[in-house]
Amino acid sequence: MFGLFSSDKPKGAIRQRIEKDESTRMRLRYGIWYRSAERQQGARVWVDGKPMIMLASNDYLGLGEHPKVIQAAKDALDKWGSSTTGARLANGSRRCHEALEEKLAAFLGKEACHISSAGYLSCMSAPATFAARGDVILVDRNVHSSLWAGIALSGARHERFGHNDADDLAAVLAAEPENTPALLVVEGVYSMEGHICRLPELLAAVRGRGVFSIMDDAHGLGVMGEHGEGTAAHFGVTGDVDIICGSLSKSLSSTGGFVAGSRASIEYLRTYSKQTIFSAALSPAQAAAAGAALDILRDEPEHLARLWENTRLYKSILDELGVDYWGSETPAAPLVIGERERAYNVWKKLWDEGVFTVLAIAPAVPPGRDLIRTAVSARLTRADIEQAGEAIARAVGKMR
Ligand code: PMP
Repeated sequence: MFGLFSSDKPKGAIRQRIEKDESTRMRLRYGIWYRSAERQQGARVWVDGKPMIMLASNDYLGLGEHPKVIQAAKDALDKWGSSTTGARLANGSRRCHEALEEKLAAFLGKEACHISSAGYLSCMSAPATFAARGDVILVDRNVHSSLWAGIALSGARHERFGHNDADDLAAVLAAEPENTPALLVVEGVYSMEGHICRLPELLAAVRGRGVFSIMDDAHGLGVMGEHGEGTAAHFGVTGDVDIICGSLSKSLSSTGGFVAGSRASIEYLRTYSKQTIFSAALSPAQAAAAGAALDILRDEPEHLARLWENTRLYKSILDELGVDYWGSETPAAPLVIGERERAYNVWKKLWDEGVFTVLAIAPAVPPGRDLIRTAVSARLTRADIEQAGEAIARAVGKMR
């Protein structure tokens, strides 16, 4: 019905396909996506004057309104102004970037780190830079669009393996000639499904073959590990993952992205990544906000504790309702509805009840698994979650 996110663009002359495109017209008519809030406070956003419970935030720890984060961003704005005006390589590097890179590398347990103005850019740059023509990329079929974009740019061949399936990965690798340079690409926490990467099993499946590994931990940073160090730390395998990339826009309550690894690999990235060389540096205020959020992760463990407490409460409500949340093991929990029309109707009921969620349809999700993406944050109160749960109960009914 909606065909949004379609990877098959319509055919014909450019102006004609823009003006006649059915998916775009549907999107405009139904007004599901690109909804703007006019105000936000805590776990509420106001859309068209109506307060809504934000049940789809990626600010998992709810630090976006933390006084220390806001103060750090204000101070950086006063000190550095609003823009960097150019690339890190040229005129855009500031001490605040280096400070954040050092802090983030240490937090992740890596030697070095490079930050950029978007998670998408950083995650795209990792496979695009480290893989080359003649290599094979072994990629979990469910990874994020940014990684696929980087894979396409790299010039390397890619082979998909079943989502989180170590046996399939081993079989795919076994079919490759021994001397083909190989790259493994996975996510730490899968953004749509909320699944945790089976990292130890996947690493074991490629051990001994000299496979280089990249993990996008956009949704694991701040969520997994004792203080939110991420998925590799959670499993105690940080040293076995060559590159950890991700976003500053989720638990670090900022915008921007990062790539972390050995000193040599980060210098290599700075030498070869077009996304790094030709794109303006992250704004100082955003770098400072992320740095302050990292300090809070270390100093105020209560946010992470509350996030997981809220996650348990939310999942227990979904369990009671019999809602399929795709086996999510993390705060990101999709409500899998299946059929598109019904998914839209559930999303609309939730919207009308003042619960902000995000409708995700194929090909953003596998066909027949149209879903509503929800995520809990530390900012939600028990009452918020219970209220959202009652709205979900009314919207989906008992599903068991
Ligand atoms: N990787 C993953 C797994 C993501 O979910 C996202 C954001 N949805 C990104 C990368 C891109 O990050 P950003 O939004 O900061 O550009």
